[in-house]
Amino acid sequence: MAGGKNRMNGVGKCTLYECFHAKVKGDRIYCAKGYRFLTKSQDGSIGIGRLSSGKQLAFQVCQGCPDFDDMGPPVPAKERGWLNAGR
Ligand code: SF4
Repeated sequence: MAGGKNRMNGVGKCTLYECFHAKVKGDRIYCAKGYRFLTKSQDGSIGIGRLSSGKQLAFQVCQGCPDFDDMGPPVPAKERGWLNAGR
């Protein structure tokens, strides 16, 4: 479902776990729509380290984004990342 208001219901922030346009390439996560997650990053992408450790990945640019494409319910925090798996 496309549209920026899907996760904008006051229940939680829109995170990269919920948008189809958040893509992993090599060791970087980027937005397939060309938005920049971080202004201090050369291309706006972020390192995969935040994903591997299960961080929230809620960036300001995603909040209210008109191109947010909902992948469904958020991934539960305890199922995020893989560095702490099995603990
Ligand atoms: S919400 Fe917008 S900025 Fe964030 S990953 Fe999706 S398309 Fe990109």
